[in-house]
Amino acid sequence: MSAEQTRKAAQAWVKQENYAPVPMLQSIHGAMVEARLPTMPCGGTPLFDSDIGCAYRCDTCFAVIGSLGQSNRCKEINRNTP
Ligand SMILES: [Zn+2]
Repeated sequence: MSAEQTRKAAQAWVKQENYAPVPMLQSIHGAMVEARLPTMPCGGTPLFDSDIGCAYRCDTCFAVIGSLGQSNRCKEINRNTP
């Protein structure tokens, strides 16, 4: 393997690590959704709440995103994130 090939292979491997397949869960609506979403500006990762079945929960403040229980701080920091 040439140096160039080795470099490309290493890059491909790193890419795979960064984009490890996200487990899929079924929502109450029957759709398959990602078990987690990319990390938010507040530092929390939205994890799909399989108890509710249709919402994501911030793993830092444990509030359902977009719910009344979500802290203002979390809402404010994540305001520009979908
Ligand atoms: Zn949060």
